[in-house]
Amino acid sequence: METEQKEMLQQKDEKYIWHSMKRYNPSTMVVKSAKGCWITDQEGKKYLDGMAGLWSVNVGYGREELALAAYEQLKELPYYPLTQSHQPAVELGEKLNEWLGGDYVIFFSNSGSEANEAAFKIARQYHQQKGQPGRHKFIARYRGYHGNSMGALAATGQAQRKYKYEPLAQGFLHVTPPDCYRHPDYHNPETFSEECASEIDRVMTWELSETIAGVIMEPIITGGGVLIPSDSYMGRVQEICKKHGALLIADEVINGFGRTGKRFGFMNYGVQPDIVTMAKGITSSYLPLSATAVKREIYEAFKGEEEYDHFRHVNTFGGNPASCAVALKNLEIMEKENLVDHSKVQGEKLLQQLGELEEHPFVGNVRGKGLLVGIELVEDKKSKTPLDASRVNAVIGVCKEKGVLIGKNGDTVAGFNNVLTLAPPLNINDGDLEILINTVKEAIAAL
Ligand code: PMP
Repeated sequence: METEQKEMLQQKDEKYIWHSMKRYNPSTMVVKSAKGCWITDQEGKKYLDGMAGLWSVNVGYGREELALAAYEQLKELPYYPLTQSHQPAVELGEKLNEWLGGDYVIFFSNSGSEANEAAFKIARQYHQQKGQPGRHKFIARYRGYHGNSMGALAATGQAQRKYKYEPLAQGFLHVTPPDCYRHPDYHNPETFSEECASEIDRVMTWELSETIAGVIMEPIITGGGVLIPSDSYMGRVQEICKKHGALLIADEVINGFGRTGKRFGFMNYGVQPDIVTMAKGITSSYLPLSATAVKREIYEAFKGEEEYDHFRHVNTFGGNPASCAVALKNLEIMEKENLVDHSKVQGEKLLQQLGELEEHPFVGNVRGKGLLVGIELVEDKKSKTPLDASRVNAVIGVCKEKGVLIGKNGDTVAGFNNVLTLAPPLNINDGDLEILINTVKEAIAAL
């Protein structure tokens, strides 16, 4: 019965659904339900979700409190645009400010891409309001991903996602990411991170500071292969931004809400960005919501007398009351269950145990912060040549056969699509963590 149902869904899926990234293929799973860290397919097979969906479901699946929060809010007020106001949005704005540890004003949208688009427009208009209309360029890093829309994709530094859609939004420049493992002196990440930060300084000077609006970066590049900078890198970047009058935008779409063992990724690096964008973990992805948090002094520049002094950007669904209610409940759960600290503690166990894999001839580097871990597979440790894609995929296939889902990230054009990624729900318990660790170890041992 369940098998028949699955086949029927697969046939219709193949006919009607246009999937992200890949066309329908026989390995596409039909997912029926989920609880905790586990998803169940249409035939009842269970998988441990080592990627929390798309690095998203921070409090785990099947949280009835979140379903009830949405239900209660949909009954009370299902929708009203934020051209006016409502309680869930106001309360969430206040709560996010507390989480951010600074004085921010919040603009709501629905996706990470939209949050970044809003950030770019706010940054450009801010400079105009301050009498510097020439400041329109953004600096981002190669291998970073910032979204699918024409601006967010222009900020993205992965050519394979972009080249068929060019020309994209203008004014986006890219610099070298602190991929410390790839540096000859990778045991000393400070040196390379410092070089990478200096490149930003140089580009701003050579492009002319008066043309630079800002820098966008994930504190830790995620989709580009879990690239962790030295502890001082982001602070250096903030200093450079200040020196050149540019804004620092932190893309916390994945890093945020406990993923890296802190509330936000930037908190690992002692900086306070001018703009912070967030999505995914804000509701643990139970409902769509994203936010662009802007430091108050930037917001103040939009308070002129003229109509055109305002931010002329409307978002029909942004800050939907039910999404905001779910986000509030989600943050309440994270606080009550201490999930940010739990992410740090479980992440340390994960990194320590998977770190043992560095003994294996094909494992070049295991790195991570909180429950965000990357395992870089290479042909040999000396040349660091990325392991052949078929063997990287084989590891993922073995894990899936054993009932564990993990990811693969990197950059195909740069030739580094060889990083296995793990980002389970933040409330993963010791038993599930052990299953994840043992399965990955067995799959790599089978190489
Ligand atoms: N920024 C980062 C760092 C992301 O990883 C993503 C999505 N994976 C986005 C932005 C875009 O988010 P969305 O898919 O919600 O538009």
